Amino acid sequence: MSRFLTKILQPYVAGEQPKQEDNFIKLNTNESPYPPAKGVQEAVCEKISSLQLYCDYHNTELTNVFAEYYNISTNHVIFGNGSDEILAFCYLAFGKNGVCFPNISYGFYPVFAQLFEQEIEQIPLQSDFTIDIKQYFHKKKTIIIANPNAPTGISLTATEIEQILIHNPDNVVIIDEAYVDFGAESVVFLTEQYDNLIVSGTFSKSRNLAGARLGFAIAHADLISDLNQIKHSYNPYNINSLTQMAGIASLKDDDYFKKCTSNIIMIREDFISKLEALNFHILPSKANFIFTKSNDMKGKILYEQLREKSILVRHFDKENLSDFLRITIGTAEQMEALLQAIQEILEEYNA
Ligand SMILES: *Cc1c(COP(=O)(O)O)cnc(C)c1O
Repeated sequence: MSRFLTKILQPYVAGEQPKQEDNFIKLNTNESPYPPAKGVQEAVCEKISSLQLYCDYHNTELTNVFAEYYNISTNHVIFGNGSDEILAFCYLAFGKNGVCFPNISYGFYPVFAQLFEQEIEQIPLQSDFTIDIKQYFHKKKTIIIANPNAPTGISLTATEIEQILIHNPDNVVIIDEAYVDFGAESVVFLTEQYDNLIVSGTFSKSRNLAGARLGFAIAHADLISDLNQIKHSYNPYNINSLTQMAGIASLKDDDYFKKCTSNIIMIREDFISKLEALNFHILPSKANFIFTKSNDMKGKILYEQLREKSILVRHFDKENLSDFLRITIGTAEQMEALLQAIQEILEEYNA
């Protein structure tokens, strides 16, 4: 810290990003194990020859393709440099009366509140890690809920989310759908009816583009206009032209998108049943990760021993969570290698 710093923060701690040459099986940051859609490379390469020009700050072509894909009007969407940036825009635009979210959820939610000096109310999850929707009724604050939630993977139904909207007519409700494509119900359709709903999403997980940094929000045109005010006061060129092209190409290959997401779901279900056979407790997941604990071994020890075998999963040191591991669903081969490693570790531990 220099002697000039006027704002002392506790930043977000992301999962470890090892050097490529270390050859880890990387199941710790919920990335896709698959490469981007085929058209992405060509579209991006083609755009390189015009990188001397600023990008289109209206994201015109991306917006058109996206709006058609989601069957919405073009003034109902805004893009962000990752959905993290979308969340930052939302805090800046709507967070002044405070923000409210579950006490176990995405680690960035309290970090933004700290950065923007906004009050937070954290609502505890139930003992089974589910969200009790009634506790979110009549808040006079901006509500943020990840659906499915992270790191639990547990989801709410659209009907439950609609109940939260009905009981909060005068404040903004943000549903963070970063993982929705892996089996949960999206509430994008409710944005037509509720002018206080923002659905945020990302190309990072289900569209295999984490490195491109592309997120979005879908909402009533007035909310989108508010978010655009923030964007144009901060960084109009937030989506670089290569990423715009990558996003378009990804949306155009729907077969690949469906293939990748359905593969992950299939591998997840298979992995869960095999892990259960090794005496693990697993929360019901609709995401591309599972949250699980061994009934035999402490989470931290298992995490460390897996790391020694070059497999990275995520462990949180927070109480209530420290027995658990969050494991990203990778390829079938990666999950087999993980199961094998867990089996070896358990055998040695029990001996
Ligand atoms: C990964 C994630 C995001 C943000 O991802 P970006 O890469 O910034 O788009 C947002 N919310 C949750 C719950 C996430 O897990």
